Amino acid sequence: MPCMKIQDGLGLSPRKVTYLKYIFERAGPVKTCDLASRFDVDPSTITKTLTELSACGLLRIAPYHGASLSPEGRLYAEFLVKRHRILALALTHYGLSREEACTEASRFESLVSKDAIDRMCKAMGHPSHGVCGEITHDTGCLGHAGEPG
Ligand SMILES: [Zn+2]
Ligand SMILES: [Zn+2]
Repeated sequence: MPCMKIQDGLGLSPRKVTYLKYIFERAGPVKTCDLASRFDVDPSTITKTLTELSACGLLRIAPYHGASLSPEGRLYAEFLVKRHRILALALTHYGLSREEACTEASRFESLVSKDAIDRMCKAMGHPSHGVCGEITHDTGCLGHAGEPG
């Protein structure tokens, strides 16, 4: 049941979050050996993790080409990047340097729900830039006219 809680942002382990964000940033198929050397992990472990992400519909794996994001995976990765940047930006408001904020956010970001991030984004006035890149906004944080909250 690796896919149960994808929608609320809480379904993926920190490791999976890291891999998905990496594949998102590479913007092309990523090979198992690339991930293995980038994160210093055994290739068989990478293969297992990628297979799980693919079973959740987030990745497409093509033999000899590597893993790339499905449309759902791309949307999800956008959320993962946004979550990191909102949390890191919030930490810089409480005395952390930009670098420290990035590092600290990476430690706990996978435990924070999408709903919390949407509400933080709103409360922060939908910032356009985080400490390590642009922050995007969607109907989750911007809300629909007539929708509660
Ligand atoms: Zn960062
Ligand atoms: Zn927003």
